[in-house]
Amino acid sequence: MYHPARGRPEPPEFSGWQTGSVTADTPANSTSSASETAPRSAELFERAEAVTPGGVNSPVRAFHSVGGTPRFMVRGEGAYLWDADDNRFVDLVSSWGPMVNGHAHPDVVEAVREVASNGLSFGTPAAGEIDLAQEIIDRVEPVEHVRLVNSGTEGTMTAIRLARAFTGRSKVVKFAGCYHGHVDSLLAGAGSGVATLGLPSIPGVTGAQAADTIVVDYNDIEAVRTVFAEHGDDIACVITEAAAGNMGAVAPREGFNAELREITRSAGALLVMDEVMTGFRVSRSGWYGLDGVAGDLYIFGKVMSGGLPAAAFGGRADVMDLLAPRGPVYQAGTLAGNPVAVAAGLANLRAADDAAYAALDRNSARLGELLTESLSAQGVPHQVSFAGNMLSVFFTETPVRDFAGAKSQQTWRFPPFFHELLRRGVYPPPSAFECWFVNSAMDDTAFEVIAEALPHAARAAAAAGSEAGK
Ligand SMILES: *Cc1c(COP(=O)(O)O)cnc(C)c1O
Repeated sequence: MYHPARGRPEPPEFSGWQTGSVTADTPANSTSSASETAPRSAELFERAEAVTPGGVNSPVRAFHSVGGTPRFMVRGEGAYLWDADDNRFVDLVSSWGPMVNGHAHPDVVEAVREVASNGLSFGTPAAGEIDLAQEIIDRVEPVEHVRLVNSGTEGTMTAIRLARAFTGRSKVVKFAGCYHGHVDSLLAGAGSGVATLGLPSIPGVTGAQAADTIVVDYNDIEAVRTVFAEHGDDIACVITEAAAGNMGAVAPREGFNAELREITRSAGALLVMDEVMTGFRVSRSGWYGLDGVAGDLYIFGKVMSGGLPAAAFGGRADVMDLLAPRGPVYQAGTLAGNPVAVAAGLANLRAADDAAYAALDRNSARLGELLTESLSAQGVPHQVSFAGNMLSVFFTETPVRDFAGAKSQQTWRFPPFFHELLRRGVYPPPSAFECWFVNSAMDDTAFEVIAEALPHAARAAAAAGSEAGK
């Protein structure tokens, strides 16, 4: 958590975050076990902390909410990762989504090798950019034009700028618990690391930047109607995760996206579908492939990057054509459309065929069953929540529909649950507010490792409850 007085986050030991109800020896045990099983990671983390804030280049990686030492990975192949101490893990994070086909997929690696040998960046157009844009357009029908950028954050930032330029309005409606990158105006009520660290507001974001953002509860269509009744003429767009994945997996209620479509259309506002996480993961056409609700603008990233820094935004031609150089809305990038990143993204998408999507769905269902089985056997209150083939575990009896629901879970059960899995060769997301991402490379061996680890993890989650009751 942020401490203005000290100007730095708390040290990485588990701090009883949120409820404070896990006794301090849980993380101490995890930490000591980390120094036994991961001495090289511990050493690297110490060096990293000396040169980088918190020792990481993206906050959730630091293990703040689970305690212990982040593992420094050195190799990935198929469903597995190996850390600096040569511990093997079944990877259930998949680089936060991109690796749908597993790590080091031969087609993706070969494409990168081939393109890289011809030079890394030209600062000119190159043919691969057309192929990647075309692949995206072919997969997602409402997308007519595409521009490539380096990160999802850049994509959402520009989509908002475009929506404001197109409508001549200033306000943006977003949902609590949705994350759209670290764009100043979109950090209000944000999910992902902002939720993991429990940050109430972000110093450095000015009142002016936040003033045009209206935050509404996810899945609450009446609240959206109310906001439009009050501010309709000033609202440039509604931005939503096509299915929420950054507070954990929370699918839109039946008809929610369709109603957003109707409300925005009749108010003359745009609907911006953030498919950075869902895009090309939950189906070949992303969430659009599951519910068919057309947004005006889309943002993509993760899977379409193949694991290199690339992202995209796109949508209706009449809106996209406002972009410079055709129109007056400026947006640019020195490395945008980088040939190596483009080659990786295109190869990743081409490898993600119907068989791969069937495997993703199958593996997600199989993981969900194992989670339910083991947690039920230990009597741990839980929900295995799905949004397509993205899933997450909430330690609560109540189905989770919004951010308040996600936050009401017994988060103190998560650190011991997490560490028991880690100790037994399974790498889940190090946060109770993130999705678990399967890949198509998971085989029976991977599932055996998971099936063996889960009962122990479930027992640890159950025991955490009895600790809290003391
Ligand atoms: C990951 C993510 C982003 C941000 O993408 P970056 O490449 O990390 O900037 C935006 N929106 C959603 C829904 C995401 O999951």
